[in-house]
Amino acid sequence: MWRLAVNCPYCGHYNSKVIDSRDVNDGIRRRRQCLQCGSRFTTYERLQPAGLFMIKKDQRREEFSREKLLTGIRKACEKRPLPSGTADKLADDIEAELYQLGKAEIPTAVIGDMVMARLKNLDHIAYLRFASVYREFADITTLKEEIDSLATTTAVHPADQLPLLPPEEMVPVKSRRRGRR
Ligand SMILES: [Zn+2]
Repeated sequence: MWRLAVNCPYCGHYNSKVIDSRDVNDGIRRRRQCLQCGSRFTTYERLQPAGLFMIKKDQRREEFSREKLLTGIRKACEKRPLPSGTADKLADDIEAELYQLGKAEIPTAVIGDMVMARLKNLDHIAYLRFASVYREFADITTLKEEIDSLATTTAVHPADQLPLLPPEEMVPVKSRRRGRR
């Protein structure tokens, strides 16, 4: 086993402890806690130890941030009848998928599409909220077209949509979060 030099992204301290490890396909995802400032962050060993950059619409580069992604998803899911931990699970899945692409740079539009594809299967209101931010619907007509397409493509009842988390995983999510800042 090789050892990564992982500096805390918040304070730069060199030493952290691993609080959770998980296999994600051909890599290992680790949640770490900085021994100096106590911040928690995630590392992926093997694929992109150096970090991942997003290319924005105006071509600017910005380092990928799971927290920002999570904030966007949380906003979209606010007050929707979704299992607790849904937003975290989505952010985890997308983050893992991004790293599995094995690229150093990914357009933000690709990330937005990944989020929307998942939200579309979970909750249409959350989907529309997210889409309205990401796609910046030009006007009410474009938005209406999107809603109409949702209404016609889904003969599926929300209850038929697969739950994001198996029931046994719903409780541990809360307890895992207890130790956070
Ligand atoms: Zn730190």
